[in-house]
Amino acid sequence: MKKTKKLMISLLTVGVLATSAAGSALAAEKEEGQWKHNKTGWWYSYSDGSYAKSQWRQINGKWYFFNAKGYMVTGWKKSGGKWYYLSHSGAMATGWRKINNKWYYLDKKSGAMTTGWLEQGSYQYYFLDDGSMATGHVEVGDAWLDFDEDGHLMKHDEQAAYDYLVLVNKTHKLPDDWESKVVLKEATNRYGETYKVEEKALEQFLKLQKECADEGIYIELDSTTRSVAEQQKLWDDWTIEKGEEYVKKYVAVPGYSEHHTGLAIDICLVVDGKRVDDNDDMIAQREIFAKIHEKLAKYGFILRFLEGKEAETGYAYEPWHFRYINDPVLAQEIMDKGISFEEYKGALE
Ligand SMILES: [Zn+2]
Repeated sequence: MKKTKKLMISLLTVGVLATSAAGSALAAEKEEGQWKHNKTGWWYSYSDGSYAKSQWRQINGKWYFFNAKGYMVTGWKKSGGKWYYLSHSGAMATGWRKINNKWYYLDKKSGAMTTGWLEQGSYQYYFLDDGSMATGHVEVGDAWLDFDEDGHLMKHDEQAAYDYLVLVNKTHKLPDDWESKVVLKEATNRYGETYKVEEKALEQFLKLQKECADEGIYIELDSTTRSVAEQQKLWDDWTIEKGEEYVKKYVAVPGYSEHHTGLAIDICLVVDGKRVDDNDDMIAQREIFAKIHEKLAKYGFILRFLEGKEAETGYAYEPWHFRYINDPVLAQEIMDKGISFEEYKGALE
């Protein structure tokens, strides 16, 4: 799908070249100007010694903006209530542009940054108020919509049948129809153990795992999805073995564990080739976990049981428990603010 954009950019380039050829012929007829530059920047000087300032100028078919001192502007520029992007060369960008890792669409003719809906061929895109293209799970008006990673609005039957922002904790029960809807996929870790994880969560986890491995940090699936029935069996078995008091303290009540959702992943570390999965041993690996936690949001995960938020989450610090929320931007916001998912959900209500 990215190909579409690349193709469009190359088509646009051809278009711009064609216009600029025509443009230079026109410019030659009109006023002869010349680019000049010093340490501060570039300006466009005319034969009579005057130069463009505080204005847009079309030069060789491309639009440039000159500031009050007459220097060519680059980067974002607000003009007449709309945003424009002036590329490194100073030429106003049009069409698709990836800027600081986000996609924007600048009107093909005017160059104005698009916000809101854009239809192209059979695809619908949505641009947020800051002009960046929506991906993932996004609130548009009153509705939550899903966009794939190329920004295409997913068709209704592709829309998630379940809410990736579901809150399941000691006081919020798993929705009754959840287990019948959630799509789980299997993955096997390096120890040959097979785990089930919600499909998108798994796809993103594998990317996270790869990025970590590229930096010499090795993580593996250690505990993922447990059905309510499995949790019930665990509860019953442990009650027989350890007694009710113990179970109530240490085992999640069936229906009230985030691991039911398929969106929760407990990892273990592999340090110097050895599996590190003991809670205390893992907590001791602060440096390694800090590096992993930095990457979580990029793949749509948050750290669920934060240090110092035990009263809100109901759990002690668990650097290994990741929760997928299918929305990297929101995940980054939650991680940056250092708030618990409970607090985030509370703010919504
Ligand atoms: Zn967990």
